[in-house]
Amino acid sequence: MNQSFFIKTYGCQMNDYDSNKMEDLLTFNGFSKVSNVEKSDVAILNTCHIRKKASEKLYSDLGRLSVFKENKNKLGKKMHIIVTGCVAQAEGNEIIRRNKSVDYVIGPQNFHIIPKLLKKKKTNQIFTEFLCEEKFKSLPSSNIKNVSRLVTIQEGCDKFCTFCVVPYTRGAEYSRQVEDIYAEVLNYIKNGTSEITLLGQNVSSYKSIIIEKSKKKEVNLSGLMNILSKIPGLKRIRYLTSHPSDISDDLISEHKNNKSVMPFLHLPVQSGSSKILKLMNRKHTKEEYLSIISKIKKNVPKMAFSSDFIVGYPGESNNDFEETLDLIEKVDFASSYSFKYSPRPGTPASTKKNYINDQISNLRLKKIQELLNKQQKTFNTSFIDKNIDVLISGRGKKENQYVGRTPYLQPVHIVSSRNLIGKILKIKIESLTSFSFHGKIIA
Ligand code: SF4
Repeated sequence: MNQSFFIKTYGCQMNDYDSNKMEDLLTFNGFSKVSNVEKSDVAILNTCHIRKKASEKLYSDLGRLSVFKENKNKLGKKMHIIVTGCVAQAEGNEIIRRNKSVDYVIGPQNFHIIPKLLKKKKTNQIFTEFLCEEKFKSLPSSNIKNVSRLVTIQEGCDKFCTFCVVPYTRGAEYSRQVEDIYAEVLNYIKNGTSEITLLGQNVSSYKSIIIEKSKKKEVNLSGLMNILSKIPGLKRIRYLTSHPSDISDDLISEHKNNKSVMPFLHLPVQSGSSKILKLMNRKHTKEEYLSIISKIKKNVPKMAFSSDFIVGYPGESNNDFEETLDLIEKVDFASSYSFKYSPRPGTPASTKKNYINDQISNLRLKKIQELLNKQQKTFNTSFIDKNIDVLISGRGKKENQYVGRTPYLQPVHIVSSRNLIGKILKIKIESLTSFSFHGKIIA
C-alpha cells in the first residue's frame, strides 16, 4: 500500500512554495497526500523562524505529534516525523534534543533528499547544508492545478538586516537560471495557471545570465518578467519580496510598459526613522525610500504599495516612531503588515540591551495598525461602483459563489451559475465587507 504524507506549513509564501515542492517530490515517489496528520505515515512540519511565536508553535505541535507516534508504534505501525524550514536550519540540534521522536531535521536547501532518507534505517539526523542548485535540479515537475502559482526564482539574502534570520537560515543569495524558471512556468500554464508570483527573500536582487546571439547577457528581475510575459496564457505576474535599494529604473519601466506585471508593489521599509533604519542596517534612509515611491508614482500613477513595519526596535524613541507615522501618511499604503519587534536568536539585534518597554510597544503597534487600517479602508472604498479586472481563482463558500483577486490582490466575491475559474472578468464592485469586495459581472 502507498505510504501517506502530511505537511503543515508555517510562515511565508516561500514556505508555501517549498511545501508544494515537497508534495510534488513525494507524490512523484509514490506517496499520497492526506489532510489529516493522524492518517499519515510521514508528518512534515515546514517551519518559519521569523517570529518567536512560530518556533514556539513548532515545539508544542511536536509534543502532540510525538504522543501520536508513540501510540502508533504501540500498535506496531511506523511513523516518521520530519522538521523542515528555517527553524530546522537555525535550531537543528536543539530540535532533536527537545524531542527525540523527530526522525530528520532538514534545512530549506535540503528537502530534495526526503524520499532517499525515508528508505534508510538511521534516524535522528540533521541536514542543513546549503545545496540550492542541487535542490532545484532534483525537483520533479508539478501536477498541482491552480490558477495562481508561486515560483521561487531566488533564495537567500546578502543584506544582513540586524533583526533578520534569513541570511543565516537560507544562506547567501542564489538566483535560479532563466531556462529552469521558464520551464517551470510553462508547465504551470499547461496545468491551467494564469498568474504567477515570483518569489525570493530578496527577489529584486535576482540576477542570471542567458546566451543571446552567442553573447552572454545579464537578466535581472525586470528582464525575467519580460521574458516570462511572452508565454501565451500567462496573464498576470507578481513578485515579492523586494528591497528598496534594488528598485531599478528598468523595473519601474517594466511596470509602466508590461501589462502583465501587476501595479502592486510590496516594498518593506520597517521604520520611518533614518536613525532606526541605520541601526537595522537597512542600507537606505527614510528620504531615499520616499524618493523611490514618488518616482514610481510619477511613472506609474496606478501603482499601489504595501509594506512591513517593525515597532519597538531597540532604541526606538517617540520621535522615531512619529517619523514612521509620517512616512505612512506620505506614502498612503493600500495594505501593510506590522509587528512588534521580537529578538531572533543569532541575529545582531538580539544582543542589544535597550529593549523598548512592552507597554510602549503595544501602544505603538495599536497606533500604527489603526493608521494602516484606515488607509487600507480608504483605498478599498475608492473601488466601490468602479469596474475592475478580476482573475477568478476558485469557488467561494456559498453555492454558485466564486472568488477572485483584483490587480491589487483584494478578494472579490461574485455569483454565477457557470464555471468562471481561470477567467479575467470585468467586475463592478458593489459593496465592501471587512476587506473583501462583492460585485457583479460586467463583461
Ligand atoms: S533584506 Fe529582507 S531577507 Fe534580507 S536580511 Fe533584510 S529583512 Fe532579511
